[in-house]
Amino acid sequence: MPASTPAPVRIAILGPGTVGTQVVRLLTEQAEDLASRVGAPLEIVGIYVRDTAAERDPLIPRALLTDDVDALIAGADLVVELMGGLEPARSFILQAIGAGASVVTANKALLATHGPELFEAADAANVDLYFEAAVAGAIPLVRPVRESLAGDQVQRILGIVNGTTNYVLDEMTTRHLGYDVALKQAQELGYAEADPTADVEGHDAAAKAAILASLAFHQRVALEDVYCEGISAITAADVAAATESGHVIKLLAIAERADGGVTVRVHPALVPLAHPLAGVHGAFNAVFVEAQAAGELMFYGQGAGGAPTASAVLGDVVSVARHIATGGKGPRESNYAVLPVLPIGAASTRFQIRMNVPDRAGVLASVAETLASKAISIETVRQQAGAAGPGCAELIISTHRAPERDLESTVASLRESAAVNSVLSVLRIEGE
Ligand code: NAP
Repeated sequence: MPASTPAPVRIAILGPGTVGTQVVRLLTEQAEDLASRVGAPLEIVGIYVRDTAAERDPLIPRALLTDDVDALIAGADLVVELMGGLEPARSFILQAIGAGASVVTANKALLATHGPELFEAADAANVDLYFEAAVAGAIPLVRPVRESLAGDQVQRILGIVNGTTNYVLDEMTTRHLGYDVALKQAQELGYAEADPTADVEGHDAAAKAAILASLAFHQRVALEDVYCEGISAITAADVAAATESGHVIKLLAIAERADGGVTVRVHPALVPLAHPLAGVHGAFNAVFVEAQAAGELMFYGQGAGGAPTASAVLGDVVSVARHIATGGKGPRESNYAVLPVLPIGAASTRFQIRMNVPDRAGVLASVAETLASKAISIETVRQQAGAAGPGCAELIISTHRAPERDLESTVASLRESAAVNSVLSVLRIEGE
């Protein structure tokens, strides 16, 4: 008797945009290989669009387009959500889970905002909710942190998880462009949206930081728990000062264990040139993980783009389809820990403070006294006479590690001090 052909895994695609189109292409072009890897054919049963008559990429088979999302979800084993946004993506995912379908999504904003509700629903329905593409595009990161490091303890994650801001900062560093020029160039090249707010103000990175921290610390970390500062205040002078002190400025997503809890934050930081993250150029992403037993690990690659992101989505599709074909389910999200997410004031970091000061005797002693009065210890001091205008000097002080809240009050005191004309910038130093 010939062995019976396994039933196909029925896949619904919601949103054939930049990523969805490439997912459809790969599912079609690699159908035979994927069927062999899964142990059952993967069949796209429909592609949900709002307007079936609208012009589409020729890679999208018109016969599969439907605007009947209810029927599509009801007839699917696996729903791939690639629409983005909070609604209706959230409702469609809950509808799919309620109907017993597993879900693959690349939607970081949705997971960072409604993750707990969605994961609980998936657990209750005993289906998978996979999201490899949501954190760093093509870079395999979610599975390594969730599964490969499941026996270890992650201490700290430092990530460059937004390609737009890395591109802008890299152009400012390597080609000495101003912020506005570098951003305009990023928009012309398609790295930045016409409205770049979500990228440059750090919101996109904050959503990813929340997801990463949840994975790393085995607990739910919400978007509102993430402290967020973008790069729009970074100037060419900040970049030049960073170069002179042997650093580059990167927008980092940081999740780390701290005394009494964890801190999760996104902000620009000075990274020493010798650190692997300093060598991440252009729109590339990289995530540096420090684990107790494994030590230092680095994941590097393309954090966005249709085909790279589709690669991560397809990896999830194959894993989930295997579970469907064999009647199992992947590991559930682990959220047993209850470490408090501490306010930014509790984070402990090194700082570089750049000041415009009068070029006269006693200024350095006065500034040092202000720092000492707040128990902030100085590591290096650099002074450039004339750099800040006639009769002025630029004073650049790097501190030893100090709690952020002490630094804030120190900077407030420096701003009021007669020995300081103005505080030009305060940047955290990470990766040392
Ligand atoms: P996109 O190009 O804007 O495509 C979104 C698709 O969803 C379009 O086909 C759009 O249809 C459809 N859509 C949007 N809202 C809809 C609604 N309310 N009802 C029905 N259809 C709707 O987006 P994308 O860049 O492919 O991103 C998709 C997801 O992947 C997002 O969650 C994004 O954050 C994530 N992601 C993207 C990248 C990347 O590099 N692009 C990287 C990592 C993760 P219309 O064309 O009819 O508007």
